[in-house]
Parts: sequence; structure tokens; C-alpha cells
Amino acid sequence: MSFFSAQKVLCVLYPDPLTGFPPNYSREDIPALTHYPDGQTMPTPSSIDFTGGHLLGSVSGGLGLESFLTTRGHRFVVTSDKDGPDSVFEKELTDADVVISQPFWPGYLTAERIAKAPNLKLAITAGIGSDHVDLQSAIDRDITVCEVTWCNSISVAEHAVMQMLALVRDFIPQYGWVVRSGWNIADAVSRSYDIEGMDVGVVASGRIGLAFLKRMKPFDVNLHYTDRHRLSPEVERELGLTFHENVESLVSVCDAVSIHCPLHPETEHMFNDDLIGKMKRGSYIVNTARGKICDRDAIVRALENGQLAGYAGDVWFPQPPPNDHPWRTMPNHAMTPHTSGTSLSAQARYAAGVREILECWLDGRPIRDEYLIVQGGGLAGTGIHSYTEGNATGGSEEAARFKQS
Ligand code: NDP
Repeated sequence: MSFFSAQKVLCVLYPDPLTGFPPNYSREDIPALTHYPDGQTMPTPSSIDFTGGHLLGSVSGGLGLESFLTTRGHRFVVTSDKDGPDSVFEKELTDADVVISQPFWPGYLTAERIAKAPNLKLAITAGIGSDHVDLQSAIDRDITVCEVTWCNSISVAEHAVMQMLALVRDFIPQYGWVVRSGWNIADAVSRSYDIEGMDVGVVASGRIGLAFLKRMKPFDVNLHYTDRHRLSPEVERELGLTFHENVESLVSVCDAVSIHCPLHPETEHMFNDDLIGKMKRGSYIVNTARGKICDRDAIVRALENGQLAGYAGDVWFPQPPPNDHPWRTMPNHAMTPHTSGTSLSAQARYAAGVREILECWLDGRPIRDEYLIVQGGGLAGTGIHSYTEGNATGGSEEAARFKQS
């Protein structure tokens, strides 16, 4: 018995594989985890209707929600057509009660779109990072915004370590020599270094930032961090961390920096010409947080003039980026599309988390505090700690310029 009568749940997911759905899976299963690193329990839906390790984040996967919602009498509309005024998303939004979207293929909920959605009461991020929602408008309209805290934090930390090593060791061009059947070792190593002994820092030591630091510790690097709140002295001692009061101080001593803060008005374009100019010449940046934390053109300039030796990450702005986005072609990058938090392992966790949130919402039970970003006309739960009020969706309409080739 639902607390809410028939609801319309509108879900924006990325398109199915070009090779068809379902894909051939390379493994039979995924490890069963019992809890997250700080003890938080895994998602606790009453049951699930999917197989962990299967593709759930694309349209046909539907986050495994279809039968749960429709057997309870709710409408479930899934689309990947999300950008521009004629998109399915924009048309279906007019009478939607709930919107679900993933940061990898975000259904941007701008002020204009929220104004066209009078019934909208709940926006769920199937993942972490709700900057694709105009949080100020959600606050003003009393829309609840929540995300599945922890669901893919370790997935991202693993990806960031991989990309930092890929940059410093210069993996991508070396792989290029192999697939081109070459054996040009001098060329292949001309930008390749050991990370051992380098100074490596993170901007933000939240769930992902701290997991990244823990994973980098065995590489015998000097670890640094900056954050609005300081970690405990025990953690600082255990990892040998140097705390910096501000990001300027951090970047001035680091050889490589990994960004792990959310995107909100305080962090938008944090890495601009000015800050990048304060970095050591030949530094590396890894950004798996959000594309807009970096000034797009400042990154390109710094790679072209050698101030940065490399840039990697998997977050862009907007998403998908237009085909002529300069980060596709800038020198010395190791970019991936936004994949770090949507491994098949992560999908199982966030699909279960979304189901837990929906069960709570539809039954009139409270959503866990750690999942909340906005509620009751203000920042709430995790949102109070990690975000500031305001809007970071400006410019997202440019996503409509992307054309699938
Ligand atoms: P957490 O909420 O655990 O950590 C965020 C941290 O950022 C907090 O420690 C917070 O500080 C800190 N912070 C906020 N503003 C600032 C600031 N101005 N300067 C320095 N630190 C700041 O989140 P997660 O670690 O789980 O995720 C972080 C971000 O990573 C997400 O918001 C999302 O944007 C991105 N992400 C990317 C994914 C991907 O697939 N690429 C997947 C998952 C997340 P404090 O709380 O101390 O105030």
C-alpha cells in the first residue's frame, strides 16, 4: 500500500550499448560487500529485481525498477533523450512527480525546467553529485533532492589512482606505440616518470578524497590535502598527511593534484588561469569530481604551454560534451567519458539505493539523512556538509550540441 497514489516517475538514463542490450558480461558475479568503509550500511531495499553486475544504468536496464513501480500502480517513463526543448525529458517533465537522473548522462534540472514541472517533488541522483539540479530552485520550490551517498565513492577513487598513474607514467601514448606495431622506446619514455617521492595532494578529503589518499599511501609519495574541515590527528598521522588551509597553498607544493570536492558555487572554476599559474611547472591534474570545477580553456592553455604536464579525469561540462569540446583533442590528456562511478559493480549499489529511496518516499517513511542534499526548503543531511546553496547548472543547454557519430 503506497502512501502516494499513482506517481509518474521520469528516469533519464544513458543510451543502450551500440552493440545491443544486454551486453556479453565478462564476469559471472561481483563481490558481495557488507558495508562501506565508515560502517554505513549498504542500500537496504525490501528486495531487488535485478542481477548485480548487469547493465542497469542504460535505458533497457531501467535501474531494475520497472516491475517494482508498475506493479504498485505508478508510471515509469525511461528515456535517454534529455537535451533541448523538444527532448522527451522536457516534454515528459510537465506532469512528472519524481525525476531520477545519473550524473554520467545528466538530465539537467535547470530553473526553467523546474518551473515547467509543477508536480515535481523529488529528484533522485542515481549516483553521487547533484549539481545537475539547480539546488537553489529546488530549495525555493521545496523539492527534495537526494543521492546514493557512498555508492560509487570507491569506484571513483580507484579510477583516480589509475588516471594519476596513467599521467605520470605516460601510459596512453605507450599503449599507442603497441597498437600501432611500433617499438619506439625513447619516444615512449620521453614523458614518463616514477611517482615515488612526488608530492601528491587532494582538494577535499571526503569519502572519495580520503579513499584516494589511502590508496596512494603505498606508493611512497608525500601526501597533502585541503578541505573545509580537517581530518582527525590520528588519520593525518596514519597517512602522513600535510594539511593546507587553502587550495593555493596545496597546489604550490604538489607535483600532482586530484580533485574530489562537489561542484557548487564555491568550487565552480576553482582551477582557473590564476590557480593553475600557482602550480609547479609540469604538474598533473586528475579531476573525477566535476568538469566545471576547472575552467575549460585554462586547462587547454596550460597543457599547450607546458604549465601542466598532463590532465586526466572523466568529468566534463556539459555532458555529453559537444563533439568539438577542446578536451577531446588537447595535448597530453588521459580523459575517459564519465565512467568512473558507473562500473557494473557501482550500478548494483546505486540501483539498490534508488529503490530504497523510492520505497521510503512512496511509503511515506523518512529517507536516510546521509542520502539527503535538499529537503524542507534548505540544504539537508549530507548536503549541509558538502554543498553551498546556489546553482551550478548554467550553460548546460550546450549539451544539445552533442551528436552521436
Ligand atoms: P563527500 O561529500 O564525502 O566529500 C566532499 C568533500 O568536499 C567534503 O569533505 C567537503 O568538505 C569537501 N568540500 C566541499 N566544498 C569544498 C571546498 N570549497 N573546498 C574544499 N573542500 C570542499 O563526497 P564524495 O567524496 O563521495 O564525492 C565528492 C564528489 O565527487 C561528488 O560531489 C561528485 O561531484 C564527485 N563524484 C564523481 C563521480 C564520478 O563518477 N566521476 C561519482 C561520485 C562522485 P566538508 O564536508 O569538510 O565541508
